[in-house]
Amino acid sequence: MTDYYEILGVPRDASAEQIKKSYRKLARELHPDVAGEAGEERFKDVARAYEVLSNPDKRQQYDMGVDPSSPSGGAGAGFGNGFGFQDIFETFFGGGGAPAGPVPRARRGQDALVRMDIDLAEAAFGAKRELQVDTAVVCGTCGGNGCRPGTDLKTCEVCHGRGNVQRVARSFLGQVMTTAPCAACQGFGTVIPELCADCSGEGRVRSRRTLTVNVPAGVDTGTRIKLTSQGEVGPGGGPAGDLYVEIREKPHETFVRRGDDLHCTLQVPMTAAALGTVLDLETLDGEQEIDLRPGTQPGQVVTLKGLGVGHLHAGGRGDLNVHVDVQVPTGLDEEQTDLLRSLATMRGEERPEPRLTAAHPGVFSRLRDKLSGR
Ligand SMILES: [Zn+2]
Ligand SMILES: [Zn+2]
Repeated sequence: MTDYYEILGVPRDASAEQIKKSYRKLARELHPDVAGEAGEERFKDVARAYEVLSNPDKRQQYDMGVDPSSPSGGAGAGFGNGFGFQDIFETFFGGGGAPAGPVPRARRGQDALVRMDIDLAEAAFGAKRELQVDTAVVCGTCGGNGCRPGTDLKTCEVCHGRGNVQRVARSFLGQVMTTAPCAACQGFGTVIPELCADCSGEGRVRSRRTLTVNVPAGVDTGTRIKLTSQGEVGPGGGPAGDLYVEIREKPHETFVRRGDDLHCTLQVPMTAAALGTVLDLETLDGEQEIDLRPGTQPGQVVTLKGLGVGHLHAGGRGDLNVHVDVQVPTGLDEEQTDLLRSLATMRGEERPEPRLTAAHPGVFSRLRDKLSGR
């Protein structure tokens, strides 16, 4: 049986602290990055010995004559599967550092954001819109690899394609090897011998193109439409990011939108409100008849069902709410004055009783709208 105490150079009754100290000393002397391949076998032995002796259970087994790190040993967890070489390396030298291999030249591009102004009808019904976008696209001259046509990428001579270089550095453990990205190739492992003249080796160029955007019904200011892979092409001609089209809805001269409902105000002469009338209203759906009942009051709302904005990604539409504003006639001539006075007499309204009520509901809703910024 391998003598782990001998390998670590400690007595059989060594304390845990002694074992650890001895292991650290040997590990930094024998680490393959310092001692080269010659030290590798001994380093592994030392690591195996430490794995057993640093664990109280395994040490006890070992002291009783069973090697817990051999495949036939009691605990079974042999070196290389339970406690790997890499673990020890990382425990001692912090791991990390430069990535193991070269970094790819082609990297994913960024997402792009463009704004698009639409009018209310487009938001209500949806629309197909042409949109000019200015993003990076794959360079057509070099196909994205950044090389002048007829030339190709070459393996970096400094790092031989590994993308990183090793350096000896000093640490608390003495001299250790550290790995750093190769400066000659920026870690790519390849160099561009002759740059493509059109993209200067970037593999991408800026270009303006026209896209067709399907604007679904129900979009509103702030809605973002995602166009997959229509964003910026990445460095080295890498895959494009996504393009987001952010909607801005232009205010309509008549209709105010709240959610998917529309609101407007209809001015009606007092006589029409009192007598009732049928009017033609210009809506987003063309002319629509609106029926005002006799005795229609100021602030009354007439709802035209389903004439609002389409619900986003769902069927159906909001409503069009027509708020009635009754116009009291002014500048009456003598004959009109007489007529109205006769009506007042008939209705006993020449000197009406003062009837005080709380403020008109309309006043409250207007105030609430002001407060909520509608
Ligand atoms: Zn190019
Ligand atoms: Zn290199």
